[in-house]
Amino acid sequence: MSQPPPPRTSSTIPPILQQTSRLDSPENPKITMSEEEIEVVQQGKGVIYKAGYRIPLIRLRFNDLCSDGSEVVFNSGLNLHDVLVDAVVGVLTALYTPENAPKNVRSVTFIVRSMDGVAYTTGMEIDDDHKEIHFSTDYIAGVHQRSHGKQDRQEILGVIRHEMVHCFQYNAFGGANGGLIEGIADWVRFKGGFIPPHWHRGEGDEWDNGYEKTAYFLLWLERQYGPETVPRINGWMKNRRYSDKLFIDLFGEEPCELFKKYKKWCEENQDEEDSAVICGAGGDESSPEEVSGEPSSQNGDDHSYVEVSRPHEDSSVSEVKLVARDRLCKLTYDGTGSFKRFLNSFEGLIEVLDSKMSDKERKLLLVTALRGNPLSWLDNIDPEDELEYSEMKVILEANTAVDS
Ligand SMILES: [Zn+2]
Repeated sequence: MSQPPPPRTSSTIPPILQQTSRLDSPENPKITMSEEEIEVVQQGKGVIYKAGYRIPLIRLRFNDLCSDGSEVVFNSGLNLHDVLVDAVVGVLTALYTPENAPKNVRSVTFIVRSMDGVAYTTGMEIDDDHKEIHFSTDYIAGVHQRSHGKQDRQEILGVIRHEMVHCFQYNAFGGANGGLIEGIADWVRFKGGFIPPHWHRGEGDEWDNGYEKTAYFLLWLERQYGPETVPRINGWMKNRRYSDKLFIDLFGEEPCELFKKYKKWCEENQDEEDSAVICGAGGDESSPEEVSGEPSSQNGDDHSYVEVSRPHEDSSVSEVKLVARDRLCKLTYDGTGSFKRFLNSFEGLIEVLDSKMSDKERKLLLVTALRGNPLSWLDNIDPEDELEYSEMKVILEANTAVDS
């Protein structure tokens, strides 16, 4: 027989865990540490700071070193360590001060792999504070081919900067307007100076068309309301449920009214460039061509770019769908917690992926998400039988007594 495990004494618990202990009994007195002390402990664990901002653990993974896209990344001459650290600092500088920057992000993993679309960012299954940026080798190989290599660096840098924003921006508890979220990401990309040749000011017919269309609207707002404009929009979404009231709170007007003014301004100021804004506020302390330590031949020479022939809208649709697919793969219900919340997430993701999905496919996916559920009655549900999806939902809801 094996010996019983030794009693858990405080000496077996690392100091960093002791300080977060919630056990408040006399045997387990609450140990409090000041902010500085915690930082010292973390520095001892290898946490680094740059420009006053805490840099999370950064990891890099290539799923296939021999793919064409991996080769493009390597041959770009970019130092991925510097690029990723600069992206973190660039994003944090654009949206926060060292004092108010979020400290929850514990790691960012940059994963270079074959997949549809361009790139997407997601939290890991075990812990949303561990972020993953997935970057498509197929996409960058295509960019390389179409631009004869001239656009590789700018596109890698720009996509990384955009995705890094998703790791650190606030999103109103996940309910923010998607167009605004993507607009802020491209606004930060613009601030970094990674501006693709197909971006043009004044495009779009709604303020929340997303991506660069919303980014240019944010640049105009910044002109009107000052350099803190986008950090304030982002900050508003820290502790609030999303509504367009955001714009009334911050600027006193509905976003569609502001957008009308922006469009009018664009018509009247067609010659004025936004490049002046880049140097004005936020952005990276280093200019984009300095990021890799190698001068860029693309600077100031728009004609050296070859426009990506894939329409930008396609890639934006893909990113949302890729995130939804990733979330759906990770979504499970283990029999505890709110079943209704689980079902809301499930149906929301299906809606994004394919709103016209058949009942049979929905049932299959739902049963897959419920796999591993300890409740034995699940065995009685067969995705192939005649049960309608809606009937199946009713049975499931009736069987999940823990629902809140
Ligand atoms: Zn995005």
